[in-house]
Amino acid sequence: MDAKVLDSHTKGGLLDRYRAASRRLLLLDYDGTLTPFFNIPTLAEPDNILLELLESISGNERNSVYIISERDNVLLESWFAQLPLRIITESDGKIMISREDREYPPGYNTRRAVRDMLDRTAYDFILAIGDNHRDEELFDEIRERPGAFTIKVGAGSSGALYRVNSPRAVISLLRNMSGC
Ligand SMILES: [Mg+2]
Repeated sequence: MDAKVLDSHTKGGLLDRYRAASRRLLLLDYDGTLTPFFNIPTLAEPDNILLELLESISGNERNSVYIISERDNVLLESWFAQLPLRIITESDGKIMISREDREYPPGYNTRRAVRDMLDRTAYDFILAIGDNHRDEELFDEIRERPGAFTIKVGAGSSGALYRVNSPRAVISLLRNMSGC
């Protein structure tokens, strides 16, 4: 089964569930999802529109927001240092979670970190958005959970529930989510 296009009808349904939920977990891949992919890291720096959206969404006390990346954690954490969200970076087999002062054993990864979050907290809305094979692992992890929505960005087969064309569509969805 392949991802269905997130059209205005399905988007409306997702937003209804979002508004009705009280503990919401948002797992947002960075490159290719929140921003077009750039090979030169500094070109992928978030613009003010994205920062303001993320500030609004992560400032909502019902939301727990994580940005997920394979980039260097120092660069990402500097970009989002002012916002009440957290960053998960996984590179060279090592995972780092911002605002956590701990070392994870080898083999611990983003998927397991998300599983632990879901075991700790009874989220009633879970949204994961991403564009590559790493994100597919997350989609696998949360697909069967109640209140879970998964969105693939771009072309290619996916186990996500829905698909959007581009980061622009992701920004549009986040704009709909901000303020509610
Ligand atoms: Mg990506």
